[in-house]
Amino acid sequence: MNLILLGAPGAGKGTQAEIICEHLNIPAVSTGNIIREALKSGTEMGLRAKSFVDAGKLVPDEVVIGIIQERLAKDDCKNGFILDGFPRTIPQAEALDSMGVVIDKVIDIEVPDEKIVQRMSGRRVCESCGASYHLLYKKPEQEGVCGKCSGTLVQRKDDHPDTVLARLKVYHEETEPLKDYYQKQGKLFVVEGQEEVADTTKLTLAAVEA
Ligand code: AMP
Repeated sequence: MNLILLGAPGAGKGTQAEIICEHLNIPAVSTGNIIREALKSGTEMGLRAKSFVDAGKLVPDEVVIGIIQERLAKDDCKNGFILDGFPRTIPQAEALDSMGVVIDKVIDIEVPDEKIVQRMSGRRVCESCGASYHLLYKKPEQEGVCGKCSGTLVQRKDDHPDTVLARLKVYHEETEPLKDYYQKQGKLFVVEGQEEVADTTKLTLAAVEA
């Protein structure tokens, strides 16, 4: 199954992607994680992306389209994948179409902006493997330490409040039109993000299995 997880930054896409990934045994592909990895290792793509990511802006379409093209061509995507954070613009969605990628479902996780700002301040990610945690909703067993790989948990620079507001603005202007794009194709499933991760997961899995 080829899935897209849509939603504002901080709506919980990453967490749900990790859960669906285990449930369906297909990889979760996060352009955000790929870009952060490139930033960390200082590749040419990372250097190109840095100023956009730090400012909460979108990295240019041709860069992310190139990333996704390369990633989806890998063997582990043959039986399906979950896209988390891609597409984020109409041209990116059109690029998927013209690559011949058929999307089965688009699950849109809806969370109001006020909640997003509140949530982002508690979000932490593993510096090494990219796993996501939350100080209130998804606490690591050991404070500051990743339960998966023992890496250090940090707050992303772009999770700071000013950048979060910039990212929300970009989301409403550039990414939200995708709801209509996929609604017209009959592929959109809306999930209301819940207070508890497990409750959102129930709704997400129901949408996957619908
Ligand atoms: P995320 O972890 O998905 O919130 O992504 C972090 C940052 O990476 C975003 O704020 C963008 O700067 C960049 N990014 C990730 N995915 C995309 C995309 N599909 N298009 C453009 N920029 C992206």
